[in-house]
Amino acid sequence: MTETERTPLAVFERHESNVRSYCRHFPVVFERAAGHHLWDTSGRRYVDLLCGAGSLNYGHNPPAIVERVTAYLASGGPVQSLDLHTTAKAEFLERFTGLVLEPRGLGDFVVQFPGPAGTLAVEAALKLARKVTGRTEVMAFTGGFHGASLGALAATTSPLLRGAAGVPLTDVTILPYGDAASPDGTDPVTALERAFAPRAEAAPPAAVLLETVQGEGGLHTAPRAWLARLRELADAAGAPVIVDDIQAGCGRTGSFFSFEDTPELRPDLVCLSKSLSGMGLPMAALLIRRELDQWAPGEHNGTFRGHNLAFVAGSAALDHWRDPHFTEHAEELAAAIPTSLASVTDVLPTGVAEVAGKGAMSGLRFADAKVADGVQRALFRAGIVAETSGQGHVLKLLPPLTMSLTEWKEVADVLGDAVLRAAPRVPPSASQLSAVV
Ligand SMILES: *Cc1c(COP(=O)(O)O)cnc(C)c1O
Repeated sequence: MTETERTPLAVFERHESNVRSYCRHFPVVFERAAGHHLWDTSGRRYVDLLCGAGSLNYGHNPPAIVERVTAYLASGGPVQSLDLHTTAKAEFLERFTGLVLEPRGLGDFVVQFPGPAGTLAVEAALKLARKVTGRTEVMAFTGGFHGASLGALAATTSPLLRGAAGVPLTDVTILPYGDAASPDGTDPVTALERAFAPRAEAAPPAAVLLETVQGEGGLHTAPRAWLARLRELADAAGAPVIVDDIQAGCGRTGSFFSFEDTPELRPDLVCLSKSLSGMGLPMAALLIRRELDQWAPGEHNGTFRGHNLAFVAGSAALDHWRDPHFTEHAEELAAAIPTSLASVTDVLPTGVAEVAGKGAMSGLRFADAKVADGVQRALFRAGIVAETSGQGHVLKLLPPLTMSLTEWKEVADVLGDAVLRAAPRVPPSASQLSAVV
């Protein structure tokens, strides 16, 4: 590295906490962003397939959204207003209900704005479910990631995050998830039934909490039959189902919610955040089936519950969902990504990598985390920002949904070359394969 490149990094190394994480893989300083591109201070351009961990589904600084936010600021509209009524919030509620909830048969849901982070939507969901049922135990799943605050962390299985809790993480039972449920060859639905029933009997659950595609946990997915059976088991146990759609929602899997192709799941509570504001402004929402909205006024409180700039940006972002060009394109891109990735794995030796995930939330699961790490670094050298997930085995690709198919294919070519260069030329050994998580 040259001195001019090193100098800007020193400020972070010297003054920012050791807890910083994503930046360690990308040792440059970013200065500008537009669409699917980021530029560093040397003017180098990168394709961003990290996209704020899925909080930039419409790309960086979408002009139509930036324009609305800028106009709102110039108009002198209130920026911070606790949960007072504002025109910005009224518009968001009307548009969200009209453009997202009602067309999907969810018109009977109400919206709670917790503090502006995904983990706070999960905290609100867990607290409400426990209040409504009068129970404490929550069922969650291996590989689940729900946030780093203590309540959500108890339902998160990352050993690194759990290890930092400092207090016992209690009142959550972890069950085997979806596709990952059958290491001994038992089919996933049977494995779920066997795990669920005895535990539900021992401690009737206050809720079942899950992602339909695990974002941080390594792009594991749950088959439709598994999700449908889970709903039946939850019903039998009298437990509401909470879908954490914080990463998989807002179009990531091809439809607004990740569960639209699985009507059997019928969630009672839905957590949203990440791309909800459309341009990366912090925002979170908990969608509540009306009869479960048993909060007393002020019973769950906070200062930044619905920030007006995020409402304005979020309202503008919803324009995408009444534009058939966008919705059709989101579906096309969601279909194209796994296909491109399959053409990469096809030319690798058997067992080196497989396609993981769903739609525009897909990636490559490598048998060897070191290979995944090498690919991630090779991509960065080639000008592509992307991260690994799970226990480091899974390269996760989150392109903005606004990227054209031609742009995606160009990126997929660069990606394919980088993978071929970094991947081993021989199949992995049996011991490497058994270590895959
Ligand atoms: C990111 C994420 C969260 C936590 O959101 P924060 O804003 O980081 O608190 C929770 N659940 C899922 C599925 C996520 O991807």
